[in-house]
Amino acid sequence: MKVPLTVADFLRRGALVYPDRPALIDEPGTAGTLGTITYRSLERRARGMAIALERMGVGHGERVAIVSPNAARFGISFYGVSGYGRILVPINYRLNTDEVSYIIEHSGASVLLVDPESDAALANVRARHRIVLDGVADAELFAEAPDDAEPAGWDADEDATASINYTSGTTARPKGVQLTHRNCWLNAASFGWHAAVTDRDVYLHTLPMFHCNGWGMPYAVTAMGVPQVVARKIDGEELLRRIDEHGVTLLCGAPAVVAAVLDAGSARRAAGQEVPGRDRVRIVVAGAPPPSKAIERVETELGWEFIQIYGLTETSPLLTINRRQAEWDGLTAADRARLLSRAGAPAVGVQVRTDADGEVLARSNHVFAGYWQQPEDSARVLVDGWFHTGDEGHIDPDEHLVISDRKKDVIISGGENVSSVEVEDCLYQHPAVAEAAVIGVPDERWGETVKALVVVREGQQVTEQDLIEFCRSRLAHFKCPTSVEFRDALARTATGKLQKFKLRAPYWDGYQRRVN
Ligand code: AMP
Repeated sequence: MKVPLTVADFLRRGALVYPDRPALIDEPGTAGTLGTITYRSLERRARGMAIALERMGVGHGERVAIVSPNAARFGISFYGVSGYGRILVPINYRLNTDEVSYIIEHSGASVLLVDPESDAALANVRARHRIVLDGVADAELFAEAPDDAEPAGWDADEDATASINYTSGTTARPKGVQLTHRNCWLNAASFGWHAAVTDRDVYLHTLPMFHCNGWGMPYAVTAMGVPQVVARKIDGEELLRRIDEHGVTLLCGAPAVVAAVLDAGSARRAAGQEVPGRDRVRIVVAGAPPPSKAIERVETELGWEFIQIYGLTETSPLLTINRRQAEWDGLTAADRARLLSRAGAPAVGVQVRTDADGEVLARSNHVFAGYWQQPEDSARVLVDGWFHTGDEGHIDPDEHLVISDRKKDVIISGGENVSSVEVEDCLYQHPAVAEAAVIGVPDERWGETVKALVVVREGQQVTEQDLIEFCRSRLAHFKCPTSVEFRDALARTATGKLQKFKLRAPYWDGYQRRVN
């Protein structure tokens, strides 16, 4: 027997086995907050959403975009949209009008769901249906359906696209990563297994839901009936307060989240207060290798378990996982942290190797179906059954992968990708810019931050602040340079190509790896 694997399976089980448990605990104090909803209510609302979309004439396979920070409505949409045969397009809410419009147009989304806080800024972004998630305009979309109401049947197909997640890469415009139901299902099952998710967990949504569908963890925890606490923004002390209040056991995030909770933990300890979660919480981190000192502090100061994973949106994302092995129990915390600072060993069903140039290649059922309507870009990364990650690294004798550099021209700041090419394109629109190179440099707070190296056109004058402001008026702020250095010339190859590695080198002097 072969039963199609679809993301609807996760909610079906959660609601069947744990109907009365809290499923989503929405952010309090926001417009239209849903408060606490049970798994029974989550199932009814997801079904209600599918019925409402059908009434609006949105057919199976059509794209439904959502621009929102973490919210219960986002959690419902994973199932109300994808679970009933439509395609969810989660969009980074920090993007500007231009950037969101591009994604709406490129994905051909017929529905755009917008968080009230982004409504005014995105007033000019249009779609056939544009609905503000304020509890009023979207009341019908998120209402509970009666038990006997069913949307028109969808001929479930595990190879159908469940979501298109736009990701900044080596091109100026983001690319739409098509994740199939099968990709999402197997990623979630494997991630849930490796992270040992059980029905005794309580999950805190610190990772943005738009980022690779919250890396797929929302699916895994839903299947186990795990209560999910929604956090709209990262404030270390507030996260600690919720971890305490709700008895949180599991959270995921970029290294910046680790830094925020460590700072808040230090402040609490200095004030003689307790840090919650000792011997209970596990935190899963990806996006960049966190400093091993931070990993050590997670264990010694917070008493939490640190788990690292590595992957890309294109791989759903789980490729490798690094979790404390029994064999490491006798080591000092510092030695264990050094081992844990590596990306990890392949997850079950994943093969990882490096090629002659040190590029990391992977092969797995989590690897995506291809970029939405960009076959040439897809063919470039999917070669002979191996996915080319654009990351560089090596594999240690114990089969743990270490990511040491990036071949691709991508900067990862605070866990989000920034395409250097996109920022360079923007700088070139300034009349005083003759040449520009955008690189990632190490940064205490964000891991990496965006730096622009600029050659000024003869006879023109421009200041660092002018260029930063110019970018901020055109690009999402997290993509903008935080510093600009003026140069007489930029290092190039004989064929005129920028030598980014040479330009980056002085800033990474003394670092073991060139990713942070
Ligand atoms: P994204 O597709 O936005 O999730 O970004 C994926 C990229 O993040 C990868 O190609 C890596 O460059 C980087 N990345 C993710 N996890 C790790 C990790 N554990 N260590 C180093 N780099 C990572």
